[in-house]
Amino acid sequence: MNQSVSDKRSLKIQLIEDNEQNRYLLTFLLQNKGHQVLAAIDGLSGIEMARSNEPDLILLDIQLPAMHGYDVAAALRQIDSLQQTPIVAVTSYAMPGDREKALAAGCDGYIEKPIDPETFVDEVERFCPGS
Ligand code: MN
Repeated sequence: MNQSVSDKRSLKIQLIEDNEQNRYLLTFLLQNKGHQVLAAIDGLSGIEMARSNEPDLILLDIQLPAMHGYDVAAALRQIDSLQQTPIVAVTSYAMPGDREKALAAGCDGYIEKPIDPETFVDEVERFCPGS
């Protein structure tokens, strides 16, 4: 069944990203398509925001200060209410095996930086069936 744009669900998205420019760009792109964005600048605050707000999806930068993204993903998976929440790693390609590490830490998928502004929101929505 085809859904028109106006039928699409507005997602509540928890963004965890320490880089201000990336945070601004991703928030802009997502809000522009009608999604709600909760932005955190580090892992600890992101975990607490996600615990309180129970987002539909979590976008997680992997290179974060203090607490690495993989550890953040593992901590998010320990929260009962977030067991089924899609966690999507957003990070620059650094080392072979990064995708596998992200998946092993509890992420559902991986979007590489630099993100493509033309396709980014579609890629994110794909992790939320029915949206
Ligand atoms: Mn970062």
